[in-house]
Amino acid sequence: MIEKILLKRIVSKIKPLSIELEKKFKIENKEFLESLSTIKKMEEYNHDLLIIRASKIFKSKIAADRKIFKWNNKIPNVKKPMKEKKEYSFEDYSKIDENGKSVKESEKFPTFYNDIKAQYEAQRKHHREKDLTWIKKSRHIHTNDSVCYYCGVNEQILKELYNEGEVCKTKRNRGAWFELDRKDSKGENNVYSKDNMVLCCYFCNNHKSDVISSKDMLDYFGESMYNYLSDKIKQISS
Ligand SMILES: [Zn+2]
Repeated sequence: MIEKILLKRIVSKIKPLSIELEKKFKIENKEFLESLSTIKKMEEYNHDLLIIRASKIFKSKIAADRKIFKWNNKIPNVKKPMKEKKEYSFEDYSKIDENGKSVKESEKFPTFYNDIKAQYEAQRKHHREKDLTWIKKSRHIHTNDSVCYYCGVNEQILKELYNEGEVCKTKRNRGAWFELDRKDSKGENNVYSKDNMVLCCYFCNNHKSDVISSKDMLDYFGESMYNYLSDKIKQISS
């Protein structure tokens, strides 16, 4: 259902998006171009939805860096002194120029898309169950499903919880899909890069924030979060 709604919204924009991406990002990746080519293909293959999702994330992260630009350059207020300059977090994929705009030539959407896709692969259940031992026996999570890096739920569970909005209501409609988390969010590594980003559920992302380390998140909260979300699903089903 969510895909259908999203598709409806995106489909009307798919043509300009395709041309725009082609021009601006100088796409050479054949598979990428092909998958943008028809709506039918979008409906057929899951990874085509991933393109849409990746492009939404891409834009939102650029927007976040533009906010940082504004923060860094706002006029200091005497009562509220300007804090230390913030670091840009998305500059591996897009740079912000001195006017606060992203430099189109530096935007690397195809690279970002491929990195996200690789991360979905790396987080298949059979890759993650060594760390997330509690998901081994789950009947709801199949071997080939991609799972939250910290708690191990799949996106099917998240979608069900999302559709039953009263059970786990989130602000700004977050929750149905995996989000990007910076594993290490302290110090110089606080960037979205191939080695520092993982996919995780809204609940883990929100809980971890930039306070809890990824190791502590796994050690202390992963299994509890899984149990919590599994119980919520049972409540819906019963
Ligand atoms: Zn999670």
